Amino acid sequence: MGNERTYQGGCFCGAVQFTVTGEPAAMGYCHCESCRTWSAGPVNAFTLWKPEAVRVTRGADNIGSYSKTPNSARKWCKTCGGHLFTEHPGLGLTDVYAALIPGLSFQPGVHVNYQETVLRIHDGVVKLKDFPAEFGGSGATVPE
Ligand SMILES: [Zn+2]
Ligand SMILES: [Zn+2]
Repeated sequence: MGNERTYQGGCFCGAVQFTVTGEPAAMGYCHCESCRTWSAGPVNAFTLWKPEAVRVTRGADNIGSYSKTPNSARKWCKTCGGHLFTEHPGLGLTDVYAALIPGLSFQPGVHVNYQETVLRIHDGVVKLKDFPAEFGGSGATVPE
């Protein structure tokens, strides 16, 4: 981990603090209904990391967890309700919300689940109907 960068993150109230180290495996936007209804926002800006890259440095006992399906464990701060990250055990990756790590230069490479979008984004970045083929999706692209 010698010269890898470490980025600071935290929840809305600051009770939970964490770091992510290295570079994300992927960055982009998810337009799925699950992200929308959990976040109460139209789109989720994600950064995906190996679980070992994410380290909670304060407030670990203050983190709530909810799994609607075995694919995702959604984490939030029990004090302020602010979202932290979502573990995806099947993918072996953790989604750290881009908004929580402002020190990271967010460079979205893909929009996923665009077939479900309620907010079209005309940024020229590739739009996938669902997920990439390597994540079990169709890998099919759709128009902006
Ligand atoms: Zn909080
Ligand atoms: Zn989603």
